[in-house]
Amino acid sequence: MDISAITSDKTSAEAELIQRAFDFTAKAHAGQKRESGEEYIIHPLAVALILNELNMDSATIIAGLLHDTLEDTPVTEQDIRANFGEEATFLVKAVTKIKSIENKDTLETSYQTLMKMFFAMADDIRVIIIKLADRLHNLQTLQYKSPKKQKEIGLKSIQIYAPIAERLNMGDFKGQIEDLAFPYAYPEKYAEFITAIQEYFEERKEYAKSIKPTIIDYLKSNGIDNFTMDYRVKHYYSLYRKLQRKNNNIDVIYDLVAFRIIVPDIAMCYKTLGILHQKYLPLPKLIKDYIALPKPNGYQSIHTTVFCEDGKLVEFQIRTPEMHDHAENGIAAHWAYAEIGKTNKNKHFKARQVDLDWIAKIRDWRNYIDNPKEFLNHLKLDLFKNRIFVFTPKGDVKDLPEGATPIDFAYAVHGDIGDHCTGAKVNEKMVALKYKLQNGDVCTIITNKHQKPTHDWLKYVQTIEAKRHIRSFLK
Ligand code: MN
Repeated sequence: MDISAITSDKTSAEAELIQRAFDFTAKAHAGQKRESGEEYIIHPLAVALILNELNMDSATIIAGLLHDTLEDTPVTEQDIRANFGEEATFLVKAVTKIKSIENKDTLETSYQTLMKMFFAMADDIRVIIIKLADRLHNLQTLQYKSPKKQKEIGLKSIQIYAPIAERLNMGDFKGQIEDLAFPYAYPEKYAEFITAIQEYFEERKEYAKSIKPTIIDYLKSNGIDNFTMDYRVKHYYSLYRKLQRKNNNIDVIYDLVAFRIIVPDIAMCYKTLGILHQKYLPLPKLIKDYIALPKPNGYQSIHTTVFCEDGKLVEFQIRTPEMHDHAENGIAAHWAYAEIGKTNKNKHFKARQVDLDWIAKIRDWRNYIDNPKEFLNHLKLDLFKNRIFVFTPKGDVKDLPEGATPIDFAYAVHGDIGDHCTGAKVNEKMVALKYKLQNGDVCTIITNKHQKPTHDWLKYVQTIEAKRHIRSFLK
């Protein structure tokens, strides 16, 4: 590990500043060792490398290098400000603040931490990305901690950090955090799981490896060029969860090993799908067009499960490089694109509204929730409950928590529509106002200007927006 991996592709001014931050940090932590016995600097360097991989800006990388100096060394806020400016200082301070709260935390109180993290996030998403990178590296070196600490950190990672990464659409981070934490959080279950799947897993990997050249040749000889194809192995923890949902029947899990084909544009995605289906028969119910109909979190890709070579079922995922980047890195990819957009290096930047909306919502909550307990309840709901998406008759989509009712939907469309909502049609049929909306429903709200919110509504609405409107009306 070497700082030159970061500085090599930066402008000379940026490279110099990052190098300076590295030297500054190395000096500050001099003499300190990690539990592994290694020099402490290994840790901030690893965090900075992770941030660099995500294409984060220099201020974030510098803050990643400096993130433990305020707490663990004599370095002061003024030192950092004088050397690296206001932006890096703000980030280091915010990360340190979260850490000091977290250190006092037990698992039971750690939802409080979550709340602080979200407050920090609403100010600057980079704070959370640094925290996630810090957590990732700590998990990678968890073997040196005591068993008690291991278990605690493992559980917290799965219960708090992974859902945050998930909500930020950082799928790759989520998977890595869960997989690293799994053996520490649930050692017995992990051991059982590994014994149960290992052989099958290896077999599937061998199979994927052996058929890959055949499929590449087939695609090339049918006019698909300019693509990359590889296979990805399902993350252990998400496989473990899926097995639980499927009564431990591994034979019905077709995406254990899946091929990913990345092509330059959307038209090529569909063309590739057609070419694949010409040779390999698909399972009809498993053709999923998340390009035309993205998942609630904005995920886009085409999925299809086909009878591949030797008649074995294999999942293919077809997407563009941009979709891939968003799927793996979520808000971080988004953030990086936004940054590049600012400097006009990339005119093709397209904001992912779904990510921005969610952050704007969190930011907004702070303005009217003076009850931290309630705030937290809603945050938990929003984070941990499954999301559904429901369409307006015009095809606009609203992202709602599971269990949401037409009233929630009405308020999500507009406050006035919610206040005057008297009935609802779902997929052209009248439903009760307490009907639980399903993913993919098309909902039409019927309004009447004499209708008013009632106390009853509070019993079944799910979203904080709806509750807020109803309460303020009842007052
Ligand atoms: Mn750290």
